[in-house]
Parts: sequence; C-alpha cells; structure tokens
Amino acid sequence: MDRRNFFQKAVVSGVGLSSGLLASCNTSKSTTYADKQFHINRGYHQIPKLRLSMDRIVKETVGLRPFRPSGPRIETEKLGNKTIVHNYGHGGSGWSLSWGTGNMARKLVMATATDRKVALLGCGTVGIATARLLQESGYEVTIYTKDVPPNVTSNLATGTWSPASRVCDPAVAKPEFKGIWEDATMFSFKRFQFLLGMNDIACWVEEYNVQNEAPQQRSEHSAGGEVYDIPGLLPERMQLTRKEHPFAADYVTRRSNLMFNIPTYLHHHLQDFLAFGGKVKIHEIKKLEDIDALPEQVVVNCMGLGAKPVFNDEELTPVSGQLSCLIPQSDLQYKLSTKGANFIARKDGIYLGSNGIVGNWDTTPSKEQTEKVVSILQNLMETMRG
Ligand SMILES: Cc1cc2nc3c(=O)[nH]c(=O)nc-3n(C[C@H](O)[C@H](O)[C@H](O)COP(=O)(O)OP(=O)(O)OC[C@H]3O[C@@H](n4cnc5c(N)ncnc54)[C@H](O)[C@@H]3O)c2cc1C
Repeated sequence: MDRRNFFQKAVVSGVGLSSGLLASCNTSKSTTYADKQFHINRGYHQIPKLRLSMDRIVKETVGLRPFRPSGPRIETEKLGNKTIVHNYGHGGSGWSLSWGTGNMARKLVMATATDRKVALLGCGTVGIATARLLQESGYEVTIYTKDVPPNVTSNLATGTWSPASRVCDPAVAKPEFKGIWEDATMFSFKRFQFLLGMNDIACWVEEYNVQNEAPQQRSEHSAGGEVYDIPGLLPERMQLTRKEHPFAADYVTRRSNLMFNIPTYLHHHLQDFLAFGGKVKIHEIKKLEDIDALPEQVVVNCMGLGAKPVFNDEELTPVSGQLSCLIPQSDLQYKLSTKGANFIARKDGIYLGSNGIVGNWDTTPSKEQTEKVVSILQNLMETMRG
C-alpha cells in the first residue's frame, strides 16, 4: 500500500474516547539522582501558591474542539478541476499535531500538484503550520479565511503538548490510525524543539498531577480522552513522596511537558508566513462553489469545525471546553491537574479549566463551571503547606 492510500484508508476509520487507556499516566519510582537533587535542594516551597479568587478572573472563553471519532481527516479529494487536500478535525490535540499533520498534507500536495500556487483555507494553528511547511517546500500560499487570530478556536486552547487528547474514538478509528498518529506526533515533537528559546513561544514546564486516590488505567483528571502514547518521548512522571511535595494528597506526580504561549506563538508564525511572501485574505467559504471560484487549482482545507457544513462532514462534532483566565503571576510557572480542575501558567495569564462537553455548540461561559473549578483549586491551595 502506498503512503497516500494508507492515509486515505486510515481517515475513514474511527475510534472511542471512552475506552482509552491513559498510558501517559505511568509513573516511575526509579528516581534518578539528578531529578531528586532538583527538588531536595530547593524544597517544595519552590512551588508557589496560586492567587485565586473570582475577582482575579479577567477573561472567560468556551472553545469548540473539532472532534472526529475516526481521527483527523487527512486525504485528497477531487472537486471538478480542483484538488482538495483536507487537514482538519484534530479534537483536543490540534496544537500538538499541527506540524505533523501539516507535513502529511504537504506530502499530499506534493504528490498531486504541479502548480506552485496553493490556496489554504483557515488561519488557526493547523492552517498556519501547514502554510509554513508548504512555503518551506517552495509553494506560494494564499490563506483564505473567515477569521484570523485571536478570533479562532486555536486561541481558546490551553496550550499543552497533548497529542492524544480527544484525537479520535478508539472504538471507531481503524487500527492503521495509530501509525499515522505516531508519525504526526514524532514530526511535531521534533519541530517544537526548534521553537524553544524564541521568546518562549514554546517552552518546557513542570506539570504536577495531584490526586487523593490511586490513579486508574483511565483517568478523568487527565487532559481528556488520551488514547495513545509514545513511551519515552516525554520525561517520565516521577512519583513524589509527602516530603517532596507540599500538597495534602497521597498521589502526586511531576514531569516536564511542553507548552505553547498561544498569542505570541500564532503572531510569530503568522509574521513568518507574511515575511516569506504569504498572503492572507479575509474570505468566508459558504459552499463548494466558493472554493471552485478560487484562482488556485490546489486547495488545502484547514477550516477546523468550519469544514462541517461546507463538506457535509457528519462525523465532525464540537467538544466544548471552558477556560477562565487569571491575571498572570510572575512567580508561578507550572501546570497542575487534579480531579475536576487544572491550571497552566502562560505568559498571557493563568488558565483554569477545562471541561469537555461532546456535541455542545454553546459558547456561553457557565458561571457554575467557573465556580466549580475555582472551588476545587482554592481548596487545594488552602490545604497546601508553605
Ligand atoms: C478548551 C480547549 C483546550 C485545548 N487545549 C489544547 C491543548 O492543550 N493542546 C492541543 O494540542 N490542543 C488543544 N485544543 C485543541 C486545539 O485548540 C484545536 O484542535 C485546534 O485549535 C484546531 O485548530 P484548527 O486550525 O484546525 O482550527 P481553528 O483554530 O478553528 O481554525 C480554523 C480556521 O478556519 C477558518 N474558517 C472556518 N470556517 C471557515 C469558512 N467557512 N470559510 C473560511 N474560513 C473558515 C476560521 O476562521 C479559522 O481561521 C484545545 C481546544 C480547546 C477548545
């Protein structure tokens, strides 16, 4: 089977969140000298408390993850004289997989197109990454989009490396999808290493998981629906003893993870896209005829959830996620997850969240959800030593 057919076969497969194993929740007791040293010398007081009250919340958002049970759609479709390359439906992993599936879309363009001019629909994290990769291969790219950042779903994400979060439903996705996911994950992971040190658009942070009960195989406190894992890609989760952490909890782990400072990241890449001669046109695609009317013969579709009505994709479903943004705290630089709540410190604020409601199109923030998350985290902070 050639690579293209392989992708095409895989994208019509499907997968189920509900039975996913949280492989990435594995912990290690074989603490290495270097890692122990890091905290014993400095003590747990180096984990500052969150300044948390309702009046410190300055922004609340609800974003809609573009979820497809069979996994993201990455395939070529003919539309009259046009060649459409689809690259949408990344669920809760679009930030993480953007470069990897962008690379797959680029290969599909290279396999079909002789024309160097490419139209790309959509200006979220997936569209921008795909556009940059096409430019790197010598294509002249024009982005046609309804909206640009900050008015895109990608701006409403948490911004953590979570390539398996709600990426598919394992009960529906075809077995081949796992290999595609691994390829995309590996490509993205390598790419992100080249983005380190550039005004922190991408960086490493410490991530704590704080629980009162022993972790199960499947865990609701995770980023949500994590289906696959590549062992060894991230540093292992270290289990911490009571002496090594300040939380009033029995099961605490720490690991390093990648995160993305969303506003500066998107700005950086959009500026790069323009610097390499790319064009952005505000242009809404309402029907297939609008695509037919574009001057380019090759069209890459990165419209996220916006692809649903245009391509009549019945699989594509929103999974809403609410975030509350606290005023940034310069001393607090970590991520924490616990049952029912998590937070991550970004440059532009500390983001509390996030839930996931399948099939919910409502983007109105719920006060009840905010109060629930705030109350869980306030309780955790109050009972913290130090
Ligand atoms: C609360 C929340 C937390 C998340 N956390 C993470 C995380 O930590 N890590 C992670 O990897 N992922 C995360 N995600 C998932 C991630 O945000 C998405 O998978 C990703 O943003 C999808 O990117 P996209 O570019 O495909 O879509 P979008 O950002 O939605 O971009 C789509 C683009 O297409 C354009 N468009 C849409 N319709 C049309 C049309 N008809 N005509 C023209 N243009 C159109 C839009 O204007 C936009 O420019 C999270 C999502 C949410 C909601």
